[in-house]
Formats: sequence, C-alpha cells, structure tokens
Amino acid sequence: MATGKINVSVENIFPLIKKFLYSDHEIFLRELVSNATDATLKLKHLTSIGEASVEYGNPIIEIKVDKEGEKIHIIDQGVGMTKEEVEKYINDIAFSGAEEFLDKYKDSAKDSGIIGHFGLGFYSAFMVAEKVEIITKSYTDAPAARWTCDGSPNFTLEEAEKETRGTEIVLHVAEDSTEFLEESRIEELLSKYNKFMPIPIKFGTRTETLPKPEDAKEEDPAPTQEVDNIINNPNPAWTKLPTELKEEDYKGFYRELYPMQFEEPLFNIHLNVDYPFNLTGILYFPKLTNDLSAQKDRIQLYQNQVFVTDNVEGIVPEFLTMLRGVIDSPDIPLNVSRSYLQADGAVKKISSYITRKVADKLASLFKNNREDFEAKWNDIKIVIEYGMLSEDKFYEKADKFALYPTVDGTYYTFEELQEKIKGNQTDKEDKLVILYASNKEEQHSYIEAAKNKGYEVLLLDSPIVPHLMQKLETSKEKISFTRVDADHLDNLIKKEDTQISKLSDEEKETLKTDIEKTINNKSYTIQMEAMDSNASPFIITEPEFLRRMKEMQQTGGGGMFGMGNMPEMYNLVVNTNHELVSEILNTKTTKKKERLINQSLDLARLSKGLLKGEELTNFIKRSYEMVK
Ligand code: ADP
Ligand code: MG
Repeated sequence: MATGKINVSVENIFPLIKKFLYSDHEIFLRELVSNATDATLKLKHLTSIGEASVEYGNPIIEIKVDKEGEKIHIIDQGVGMTKEEVEKYINDIAFSGAEEFLDKYKDSAKDSGIIGHFGLGFYSAFMVAEKVEIITKSYTDAPAARWTCDGSPNFTLEEAEKETRGTEIVLHVAEDSTEFLEESRIEELLSKYNKFMPIPIKFGTRTETLPKPEDAKEEDPAPTQEVDNIINNPNPAWTKLPTELKEEDYKGFYRELYPMQFEEPLFNIHLNVDYPFNLTGILYFPKLTNDLSAQKDRIQLYQNQVFVTDNVEGIVPEFLTMLRGVIDSPDIPLNVSRSYLQADGAVKKISSYITRKVADKLASLFKNNREDFEAKWNDIKIVIEYGMLSEDKFYEKADKFALYPTVDGTYYTFEELQEKIKGNQTDKEDKLVILYASNKEEQHSYIEAAKNKGYEVLLLDSPIVPHLMQKLETSKEKISFTRVDADHLDNLIKKEDTQISKLSDEEKETLKTDIEKTINNKSYTIQMEAMDSNASPFIITEPEFLRRMKEMQQTGGGGMFGMGNMPEMYNLVVNTNHELVSEILNTKTTKKKERLINQSLDLARLSKGLLKGEELTNFIKRSYEMVK
C-alpha cells in the first residue's frame, strides 16, 4: 500500500476549505455529481471517437444515503481512474484532469459538455466528510484502486477489488454535517443543483403501477414494480433547438422550472448563440404586478446543465431580472466577484445580447399580433418602461413598440399619439401637450373635463412612469407631459376662441382679495380665469413640476435633487364666468360670502381628493345643515 502526503502548499488545506466555504457546504454534492457526470461524458466521447473499446450503454449516476453507517455514496459508470491517475488528479490538487482532457481532445471534445473547473472540485467533499474513500476502476484493463483520506493531508492508495467500470465516492459524514444524512435534504439538493444534468441520476426507487393482465379479476390489485427513481430531466427544453419545440413544450418546461407557479407565462424567448460566446436558455415573461418585491422565482443560471445560482445580477441587465427562466453558459466566469463580472468583456456581451434578443422578440410580437400585445401590455409594461429608462439600446428599439393607452383603452405608439394630437393639443410654445392621468377614479372630474374639450387623455399608472416621461421629454422634441389636474386646460393649451371675462379687472381684484382672506392658506395661489360658464367655479390644480419631483423622490432617482420634503403647492383656479362666482362677488353679508367661498373651496378639494379626516366630517355636517 502506498501512503503519502497530498501535494499542497498550504500545510493543511481542509480546515480552510471548511471554514471559508461554511455557508456553501451543500455544494459538495453538486461538485461530486458534476465529476461523475464529467467522467461519464468523457467515456461517451471516447467511445464515440473509437478511443475506448467498451460499450457505452445507458450509464446512470447513483446517490445512496446510508443513515446508519453515516455514509453517502456517489457512484458512476464513467471512465474511472487508474492508480496512477488518482495519484495525478486527486493527490495533486492544483491539477485539473478535466483541463488536460479538454486540452488533449481539443478539436473533438468541444461540445462534450464536460465542465471541469467548476468550483472547489473534489475536495469540497471535506466540507461535510471526516473521511473520504474513492474506489475506482478505469475503463482500461488496469486494476481498480482505493484511495482514502481522513482530512489530514495524509492519504492511502492501494489496489482494490472492483469489477465494474467507474468510480464510487464514499463520504464518511462528519458529526457537524449529519443533516446530509437525511434523505429529504439530499433530495432537496439534487433537485436544486442537478435537476437538469445530462446523465440520469438515480436516488432510491419508486413503485410503479403496471396495467392489469387481461385475465385479472375485478378485485385483483394492479401489479406493481420497483423502478429506479430518476430525479433529473437530462434533456431540458433549453438544450433543444427552437424548431424542435412547440408552444406547449415551452409552457411545460416553465412548470418544470417553477412547480409552484400556477400562472402561465405570457411568452418566451429562446436564446441560442455560439459565437462569440456560448449561451443557451429560455426566458419567460411572467405576469407582473406593480409589486416588484414579490419576486421569488428568478432566472436560474446554469453551466452545462449544472445549476449555479439564481442571482444573475451583473449577467442579465437589471431590468430583465424580473423575468424568469434559464440561462446556460460555460463562458461566464463563476468564481469571481460581481463587480469583476460587470467589467468582464464576455459578460458585457452576454448582457447586451440578451437585451437585444428581448427587444427583438417584443418587436416581433408587436408586429405580428398587435391585439395580443396590447392585451398583455399591462403585465409587461413595467419591464419595458424600466428597460427604456436604463438601457439606451433598448430604448431605441422599444420606442417603436412601447404603448401609451388612453383612459378609454385605445393604445397608441408614441408616433401614433403625436400624429393624433398634433394641431389640437399644443401649448403657447408650440409644444405638444400630452395629457395623462395616473388614476382614473381619483382624477375623474379632470379627465372628464379634458375629454369634453376633445383632448386625448392617457392612463399612465406605473410607478416609474414619471422618470420615463422625464426621459421622453428630453429625448424627443417639443413635447411635454402634463397630468390632467396639473393645470387648468385653457391656460395650458392654445385655443382659437378665447373666453371673454364677465367680470371687470377691478371686480376680479376684489374677489381675489376676498377669497384670499377667507381661505387664509399660503399653499394656495389664486388665479382668476375666464372659462366656459359650464366649467366648475373653483378648480384646484397641482403644478406638474412639483408633483412629479415628489413622485420621483418616492420611487428613487430623485435623491439627486436633494430637496428633502417638498412643500404642498396648489393653484385655486376661479372661473370668473361662472354664476356662482358672480354671486360670491355680489353677496353683501361677510358671513354668507365666507360660507359660499368655503363651501366652494371644499367642493373643489373634494374633487381633487384633498378633503379628508376632520375637514371632511365638518364639510359633510355643514352640507346637511345647508340642504335642510
Ligand atoms: P475538475 O473537475 O475541475 O477537474 P475536481 O477537483 O473536481 O476538478 O476533480 C479533479 C479530477 O479528478 C478530475 O478532473 C478528474 O480527472 C478526477 N475525477 C474526479 N472525480 C472523478 C470521477 N468520478 N471519475 C473519474 N475521474 C474523476
Ligand atoms: Mg470537478
């Protein structure tokens, strides 16, 4: 028997392995199953090019938990190792056998799916085991070998009895890791990391019911048989070509990925590139609500069908992290920090490729089935609006299919909208005035007033829309967004027929002073306007600029203005052509005049949604008194 010291520069690497990767102990299984997969794929490759004269067959990988013996077994039917190979690949930690293999078969092994250099590798076994055994038989005629190591750098290596080709790893589970002796825990890990690995993985058996034989009696139970319990799907949808898949297959795969999601995805995007980097995957647009915090199911990152993480930050542009699905790429460096990732050239290219694919898919959905696209708009707009804000490349493409719905459910592209309102909604500086509402209920009276004048009113209600409007106003020429309750419309939009005021300037001045004195509130600026006599006598507006700043502060991005709390500022627009306004002016008793002003103001505040609490209670009480 040979004994020796593992060739490491650090005197004792195992305490280090344990300590530094404490939080990630569970990855040992991923590493060992990856090695078993590599070994099997290597054999597949060697047999396919005639380098190994053995039958490849239908190899599987088996995981066994021996709770009593406190052991976990990982058994494969792959290439195995000779004693010399164990010496070379296991004892010399710094050397990766996968690397040598890929190097040797450079040309033919490209697509073999061998992972190599995945993470910590074989030695991660020591994160959970106090002793590890390798019993292995090479696919060549060489005798089998057994290697053991108890966590110190000392190992033993000897010839062993093993008839069948392949490798068995035995982990003698350490006292502090007995959680991994629970079948449920292993099952959880297998389903997290190995659900889509390319070689079938067996974990236990399950009972399968067979059809009854024809001569069976009614009361006879159906026959059953024990079959291997294969926990993975070795051929997941993303590894196939888009032409091989139907809509149903994509939906089926979504359910496989997210068994707890009952809502169907809106559509999918199949990613498939091999130059200048390798990337496959399927992304799904889920139904999104405005509540972005409820985001549990995320995009999963795989490397050659091995799960790596569901934190794709830095790889996928931020606005697309709201999507779901799978990305698989051997070209993403995995053992580096996120900040490094963002600077990595390959990763940058991946990120912009994904952005482009998503934009193209959206553009084709818009073009090919606009009706359907409109129907889905509310569920996807957050992603698109966010993307337009954060990625200029995306903005350029999305500008052609981003939709602007009206309060009555007509969907315009920006260009169509411009065309529609041109000539009818321009201000004094010849800017197009785009009127919008953020809440149909709360701004109802203002919406109605605008519609009565023949204006288009958009319904823009996502939380980031104020930021997007800001961006549109700076990147497009001569447009401005104004909420319906931000200004009095006749003041805002250029009109041919200007109203003539029924009141003289002097009367207006008197009235203004009266109102100012009565309401005695600095938040209100009083404006006298000659409007249509049918328009409300008092209208409260909140300037667009201030309100939008406030909103932007709430949704982030406004911090740069450093404004803290912004003051409440309203305009009280008084329609000098309204009968009630004349009545206020002509009322002789101060008390009655004040009552009329206060009541009218409260009605205007009610309409704007500003009357609340005690003031509302008082208003209602007062109104009952009046109608009595
Ligand atoms: P890597 O997989 O990145 O090469 P590991 O530390 O995981 O690094 O494994 C080191 C080497 O040990 C592998 O490259 C391979 O040559 C050998 N090896 C590990 N596990 C097995 C196995 N189950 N069958 C055959 N060889 C194996
Ligand atoms: Mg490995």
